[in-house]
Amino acid sequence: MKSWKEVYADSDFSIYNLPWGIYSGPDGRKQMGMRIGDEVINLGYVASLGILDEYKVPTTIWYRDQLNDFIALGKKTTSGVRNIIQQELCNDRSKLKDKAQAFIPMDSVTMHMPLIVGDYTDFYSSIEHATNVGKMFRDPENALLPNWKHLPVGYHGRASSIVVSGTDIHRPIGQIKPPDSAPILSPTQRLDFELEMGTIIGKQSSLGSRVSTDKARDYIFGMVIFNDWSARDIQKWEYVPLGPFLGKSFASSISPWIVPIEALEHFKVQGPDQEPPVLDYLKYKGDHNYDLHLEVIIRTKENIDTVVCRSNFKYMYWNMLQQVAHHTVNGCNLNVGDIMASGTISGKDIDSYGSMLELSWGGKNFIQLNDGTQRTFLENGDTVIMRAYGDKNGVKVGFGSVKGKVLEAMPL
Ligand code: CA
Repeated sequence: MKSWKEVYADSDFSIYNLPWGIYSGPDGRKQMGMRIGDEVINLGYVASLGILDEYKVPTTIWYRDQLNDFIALGKKTTSGVRNIIQQELCNDRSKLKDKAQAFIPMDSVTMHMPLIVGDYTDFYSSIEHATNVGKMFRDPENALLPNWKHLPVGYHGRASSIVVSGTDIHRPIGQIKPPDSAPILSPTQRLDFELEMGTIIGKQSSLGSRVSTDKARDYIFGMVIFNDWSARDIQKWEYVPLGPFLGKSFASSISPWIVPIEALEHFKVQGPDQEPPVLDYLKYKGDHNYDLHLEVIIRTKENIDTVVCRSNFKYMYWNMLQQVAHHTVNGCNLNVGDIMASGTISGKDIDSYGSMLELSWGGKNFIQLNDGTQRTFLENGDTVIMRAYGDKNGVKVGFGSVKGKVLEAMPL
C-alpha cells in the first residue's frame, strides 16, 4: 500500500494503521478524528465531501465527544469507513488531495478520553507475571495457584478513574500496615505501573447469552496501551480475601488512539501451548497472539529517560478470544466501550518484567536510571511512558504512547 500522504518512515501511524480518537482543535470543540503520520484527519469535514455517503453515518456522530456511538454502528460501518479513507489516501486522484482542511497537525490539537468506559475488567494472563508474583509472595516451588492454567483469572476493576494519556496522577493515600505497628493512613510508599494492553469491546452481548471463542473477534473493536497504576503496599494490606480494591482503583491510563483490531492482523503469531488442555469453551482455532513490541520508560524531573522494560504482547498465555469467552460463560453481558485489560505483560528476561514490583523484585533490588539515581518504586515527579508497536516486513503499526506523571499526594 502506498499513500500520497507523506508519513515519515518510522511513524507508528502509517497508512496500515488509521486509528480512531477524540480530539479538539483551537476552537476547543471535541470531535472524532483518525490519525495518519503527524496529522489528524477531520472526519466530519471528510464526510461533508460525500466520500463516506454509502455508510449513512448520521452527521452528528462525527461531532460526539466519545466514540461509543460510532462503534455501536457495527463493524460493517466502522471498517467500511476506514477502508474508504485508506483507499482515498492511496488514490492519486482523491478529492482529499487538495483539501488542507481535512488534515490538522497533531501539535495543534488536544487528545481526549476516546470512550465512555462502562465496565473495566482486569485479567492476569501473563504466565511470567503470575509466576513472578507467586514466587515473591507465596511458594517459589509452586508459584502458580491451582486455577491459573484452567481459566483466565480476572477481577472487576473501576471504570470511572480510567484517564487519557497526559493526565497526571496524584500519589494515592490509603491504609498501609507497617511490619511492627498498627495500620496507618499514608501516601503509598510503593507506587507502581503495570504494562498492559486494553481490549475495547465493540459489540453488545445480551444478558444470559455466551460468546464463543469462534465469535469473540466480532466483539473486539480495537486496542489501546493500558497503564494500570498500582499501590503495592495498600494492595498488600487490603486484598485479602476479596482481591484488589483501592490499591488499584485510583487511576488507570490509556493511550488516546484506538487501533482497530483489523490493523493488527499482520502481527498475529501462534500462542503458547496450553497444558493441561483447557475446557472446550476455551479452545480456539488459529493464531490469536500478537507480536507487538512493548516498552516502559521512566522520565525523571530533569527529563532524562530510561527504558526500564522491554516486553512483547505475544507472551500472553491467555488470548483475547479466551478472555471474552470466559467473561461471558456465566451469561454476563458485554457493552460497547467496555475495556478488558490483559494483565501485566512480562517476559522471561529480567528486563522484560512489566512492573517495578518485579523489576525490583519486591523492592529488594535497585533499578538503575540514566541520571545516576535508582528506584525501587516510583517517585514524585517521575513520568511513566509506555509504547507499543508492531513492525514486520516493512509494515509498522503503533499505538503512540500512554504517559502520566506522578504528583505528590493530596494533603492528608
Ligand atoms: Ca492489572
